[in-house]
Amino acid sequence: MSIVRVALDVPIPELFDYSAEQALAPGTRVVVPFGSRTRVGVVVETVAESSIPLGRIRPITQVLTDTPSLAPDWIALARFTARYYQRPLGEVILNALPPRLRRPKLLAESGASPNGIALTETGASAPMRGTVRTSILATLRARQPQLRQHLEALGATGASVIRALLHDGLVAEVVMDESAQCELSTPAIIPSPPWDGPTLTDAQQSAVQAVDASRGAFNAHVLFGVTGSGKTEVYLHLARTTLARGESVLVLVPEISLTPQLEQIFISRFSKQAVAVMHSARAEGERASAWIAAQNGVSRLILGTRLAVFAPLQKIGLIIVDEEHDPSLKQQDGVRYSARDLAVFRAREAACPIVLGSATPSLETYSNACAGRYRLLRLPERARAGALLPTIRTVDMRTPSAMQADGLSPVAIAALGERLRRQEQSLVFLNRRGYAPVLGCSACGWVADCERCAAHLVVHLAERRLRCHHCGYGGGVPRACPSCGNVDLTPFGRGTQRLEVALQKLFPEARILRIDSDTTRARGRFTEMIESIHAGSVDILLGTQILAKGHDFPKLTLVVTLNTDAALMAADYRAPERLFAQLQQVAGRAGRASLPGEVLIQTRYPDHPLFRSLISGDYLGFADRQLAEREGAGFPPAISEAVLRAESLEIADAITHLGQAVQLAPQDDLITIYDPVPMSLARLAGWSRAHVLVQSPERRTLQAFLAEWSARLYAARSPRGVRWHIDVDPLEF
Ligand code: ADP
Ligand code: ZN
Ligand code: ZN
Repeated sequence: MSIVRVALDVPIPELFDYSAEQALAPGTRVVVPFGSRTRVGVVVETVAESSIPLGRIRPITQVLTDTPSLAPDWIALARFTARYYQRPLGEVILNALPPRLRRPKLLAESGASPNGIALTETGASAPMRGTVRTSILATLRARQPQLRQHLEALGATGASVIRALLHDGLVAEVVMDESAQCELSTPAIIPSPPWDGPTLTDAQQSAVQAVDASRGAFNAHVLFGVTGSGKTEVYLHLARTTLARGESVLVLVPEISLTPQLEQIFISRFSKQAVAVMHSARAEGERASAWIAAQNGVSRLILGTRLAVFAPLQKIGLIIVDEEHDPSLKQQDGVRYSARDLAVFRAREAACPIVLGSATPSLETYSNACAGRYRLLRLPERARAGALLPTIRTVDMRTPSAMQADGLSPVAIAALGERLRRQEQSLVFLNRRGYAPVLGCSACGWVADCERCAAHLVVHLAERRLRCHHCGYGGGVPRACPSCGNVDLTPFGRGTQRLEVALQKLFPEARILRIDSDTTRARGRFTEMIESIHAGSVDILLGTQILAKGHDFPKLTLVVTLNTDAALMAADYRAPERLFAQLQQVAGRAGRASLPGEVLIQTRYPDHPLFRSLISGDYLGFADRQLAEREGAGFPPAISEAVLRAESLEIADAITHLGQAVQLAPQDDLITIYDPVPMSLARLAGWSRAHVLVQSPERRTLQAFLAEWSARLYAARSPRGVRWHIDVDPLEF
């Protein structure tokens, strides 16, 4: 009998001791009793003795042998995450697993779909014909069942041969749940289709060479490439050499559902078996099988969103983080990790290169490059022959005549009309969906607010509803002012719906397509829309930032951005960096092919330095000034920071709790603790929210401080109705 320490998803930063009949490797999934229930956990270590009296240690209920145990380097990643982000190890480990593996039962019992193939009686004696068919039948005769993915990888036509064998009744589908079978799969032979990529430009070539030359050790590279500079092609080449070395590749992207073509490119250059896609919108069965495929080496290239940073890949030889500046790489609840930062940790542990790609590198990353810790690789021009960067102009909105129709300036209207005549496409960018952001009464000043958030309700005219964009709360549009009875309620400001109406009025002949999360909610709708743009059946595209990402529309030659000034004036010190990145990204949609692109930014601050840098294409100049400002003001990356947040029904309770928490903070001269204050969105979904900001000039000091502080906070009982968490390197204040 042995004693094992098991990580469970409970909000207590401890491991739990259980007894096991046989020795269990760390990383094994087990079912254990916990209180009156059973839970799934992961064995983290075996110990010689426990602080619990032997008689009271409970035995493990079941060992889940249907997946291989998690590798030691994976457990090390989880331990680092738990330590750095101040969360219980069990919470980190269990939340990193795909949902099916979080249930206290075998995969087969969780309704897993058939993932294996076995011979039927006819198949057992069927003649061997054809190379791929022969190797599939021979593999099954040597041992069966086998993972379907593994068999499919035995040849370029593997998938269709298996379909034929199934059709002919020579093999059958089965659900596999024996770990022995997973381990059996020898590294799959990955058939790669003919490589049909373009010849690399000199800049792409030298970037590839620089990364290739740095293999075999941890080296971080910042791939600083303008929009359309062909970063993807660099990734593909690096991935190819990595796979050829027998190593695996991890590619992280911010939002994969917005860039379905990226998945297609990777699959077409490698093969469906080699590439596993990981993101939270995939079906549970697919998530489980992608995980297992990564773990047993069938898929050696993982393409995924932030959660894929935990992909259980073996022998990582390269990590790529595309759009590394994107805030969605940071998890905003539960374990609040930065996938980019964990990726850097992983690359260091795996002693392999990491490539952080962006047209607007984050200031954190850029400052590492300035300090010589990361190497800056530049792609200064668009890759495709003849494709130039768009010209960017500001349109001064201070003059009364500037505002003609619902927020569009005469300059923008003329430019849109010109594109219509030339049969080119335009994009109008407004990062605010709905009809109008506020519904108010001009008689008494009443405004429709969310009952659960400190926010106004947004008017959605098409559905005649008011909706909260923070919590989803909704209601009908009142017929009269609830406060004074005035029947003439006014929608103030404008969102994409209202702009759509205005554009239709201005250009009745134009085919206008609105793309925002309201119009793309239905499954497959977004892809359909993207296809219709490519097919040329749209003249004016209108949308939020979901349009800004990575798309390549060759006929799009004009981008107009509206309402940028709100972000320009925002209090958040990261707002300018985000605005620059966002404008750069939308601007990057214009003139991708041989037609020149034009970008019009409507603003009341046409001479703002941010716009000047954007116009002259001088991101680094802008970044240098931002870094100097942050240094002067004591903001990251010059210093490190974390917040302790508390949420309760009444803001006073949250503030009181934070005050008490500050009393428990360890003393340290290098730590500054600010006063508890309400968050900028002070109420969200019924919870009042406040925080305490903690800063230190040294990351290590902050880490030591947080470890001690959170231990004390976990030990102290928090009052009823208050919940709290620590957010390290927070993005939200
Ligand atoms: P980025 O991600 O840097 O914005 P992409 O990777 O999307 O740029 O590439 C932009 C376009 O340039 C794509 O259509 C791509 O196929 C094309 N492209 C990339 N590299 C080359 C090259 N070496 N020669 C010609 N076209 C290229
Ligand atoms: Zn009123
Ligand atoms: Zn709300």
